[in-house]
Amino acid sequence: MQFDVAIVGAGIAGNSVAYELAKKGYKVIVLEKKKEIGGKICGGLVSRRVINLQKTDAIVNEIKGAYIHFPNEKEICIGGDKTYAYVIDRDKFLYEMAEKAMAEGAIYKLNFSVRKIYQNKIYGKEDIKFDYLIGTDGAKSKVAELFDMGKINYINAIQGEGKKLEEDFVRVYLDNELFPNFFGWVIPADEKARIGLGCQSKKLKEKINIFARKIDRKISNYKAGLIPCGMRKFYRKNLALIGDAAGQVKATSGGGIYASLLASKILAENFPNFKMYERIFMEKFGKELKRHLLMRRIYRRLKNDDLNFIANYIEKNVKLINKYGDIDYQWKVAKEFIKKNPKFLVSLIWKILR
Ligand SMILES: Cc1cc2nc3c(=O)[nH]c(=O)nc-3n(C[C@H](O)[C@H](O)[C@H](O)COP(=O)(O)OP(=O)(O)OC[C@H]3O[C@@H](n4cnc5c(N)ncnc54)[C@H](O)[C@@H]3O)c2cc1C
Repeated sequence: MQFDVAIVGAGIAGNSVAYELAKKGYKVIVLEKKKEIGGKICGGLVSRRVINLQKTDAIVNEIKGAYIHFPNEKEICIGGDKTYAYVIDRDKFLYEMAEKAMAEGAIYKLNFSVRKIYQNKIYGKEDIKFDYLIGTDGAKSKVAELFDMGKINYINAIQGEGKKLEEDFVRVYLDNELFPNFFGWVIPADEKARIGLGCQSKKLKEKINIFARKIDRKISNYKAGLIPCGMRKFYRKNLALIGDAAGQVKATSGGGIYASLLASKILAENFPNFKMYERIFMEKFGKELKRHLLMRRIYRRLKNDDLNFIANYIEKNVKLINKYGDIDYQWKVAKEFIKKNPKFLVSLIWKILR
């Protein structure tokens, strides 16, 4: 079968770009290795921008702020005055997009794992010929591997479910011994809370059990996942990557839904000019993602004592954080924070270099 565009992976990026391109009249096929769409673990915490990019009925909770827990048990409340973020039912969100893509004529082949691509042809249960190929096959992208799009790092993550939380605040747990280089989270969703953690260690089961004891909650149905850290090449000739496959993820928080949607829209608007896709994405969000990588590099160097030291500054700057805080564009608040607290920067540099 011959298609204008073959899309590998029916996640956030794949469904979104399939819809956008099918709407423009391209003959599109989406190949997904799973028997059903969805099923990936994800906090589903997104900003208003996501809802604006993709109208949805999949919102299950509105988030008014966050409690940040530090290693010395200090707890700081950020926000509280308005809705800062939303929690979505990720599978429902995906089905909505897939249905829209199909309604525009996109063809879906599930249970189709892409392993071999050669000369504009995907070899599988049936051979698919394409003019353009889009890799939206997640963090460990086979498309990226086959076309040598660059190596990236990963954060190991695990998430399960806990008892329903009667609050509309996310809880973030910072502890560089328990969660080396990342953090733990509790997100109040609908009937359940989503409880998870990311870290450099591969002993995720052990970690989640310790975390469950620390927060005194039962965590069940947990599953592991990978968060990409670093960006790959976005395109090559008639091939482009979007979403986790391209490493379009906030290295500070692991959030990638906004970037996946934004990149899909930009690619479709400029299709098939992939150079322009890269340029516009980098201007709008890629530069920010690079800064997140820098912030993560700094975070990795911090010990628990340093985190406790930072807590004191955060406590004194809650107003500033509430004013400039933005879960997508975190550089803004970091910049304002440092402008107001130049001594903090000096101490931070000293701690990193020591
Ligand atoms: C534990 C965890 C929590 C997270 N929490 C949040 C959060 O709260 N907010 C947020 O914004 N982001 C979060 N993320 C990140 C977010 O889930 C991803 O950034 C987002 O799902 C990326 O979408 P994607 O379409 O690029 O990739 P994916 O959603 O991973 O989709 C890739 C698809 O490709 C398919 N596939 C893979 N290989 C092949 C192949 N060879 N052939 C065919 N199909 C294939 C997969 O089955 C999958 O369906 C979290 C991630 C993790 C791991």
